[in-house]
Amino acid sequence: MAKAFKRNDGRKVDEMRPMEAKLGVVKSAEGSAMFKAGKTIAIAAVRGPREVVPAHKQRADRGLLRCTYDLLSFSVNDRKRPGPSRRSSEIGMVIENALLPAMDLSDWPYTSVDLYVYITQADAGTRCAGINAAALALADAGIPMKELVSAVAVGKVDGQVIVDIDKHEEDQGEFPTDIPVAMMPNSGKVTLLQLDGKITKDELNSALKLAEKSCKEIQEVQKQAIRAKYVSKEESK
Ligand code: UDP
Repeated sequence: MAKAFKRNDGRKVDEMRPMEAKLGVVKSAEGSAMFKAGKTIAIAAVRGPREVVPAHKQRADRGLLRCTYDLLSFSVNDRKRPGPSRRSSEIGMVIENALLPAMDLSDWPYTSVDLYVYITQADAGTRCAGINAAALALADAGIPMKELVSAVAVGKVDGQVIVDIDKHEEDQGEFPTDIPVAMMPNSGKVTLLQLDGKITKDELNSALKLAEKSCKEIQEVQKQAIRAKYVSKEESK
């Protein structure tokens, strides 16, 4: 009989790591947020909309979203040289592309919304935690969005489709498959889909179903974080 799949931390296959979210963690920024899933922690801060420098990058028809992402050197167990890398530039672009479909920057020509996403603890799924924190930071900064974007990495480990893969799982099994997914959970629109590894069509479909269910759970945590800052402020007036 095949051995039942067991997760290292005892989670069910469709269970997220414990999540936390908080707005306003960088007081000097226009908007900011922290998002945590298990041991992965992302901080996002927004500056702007402000005039684009250099001027030749300005657009007359809309504002720009420019995202910087990086793992802080102390966020990982291995040595991590401080400063940007090919990986960090690629993930910055991935985060930008995951958020843009939810945004309308047509009211801010010549400006940019500069978004900074830094990972203070990395245990896999940092681009997804970064997107979750970034969507909250944009909301905190008052940037209009069609809806919040929520993200999670699903995948396949030892033949089992699971949600919210941690680093132990990512390094487990012969051919682990990692699929970061970002969604606008209410409209069901997928804004990011990456796939590292191999998976069958049926497995991919069940992985995406898990991602959809989890993104709805994540969005609830995000909404609670917004309520915790703004509704409690209203009530204390
Ligand atoms: N990682 C690391 N050092 C690095 C890059 C990544 O230890 O220089 C770890 C970290 O835990 C990260 C994980 O590998 O979360 C997976 O990285 P990946 O590039 O797949 O992106 P992520 O899953 O974080 O979005």
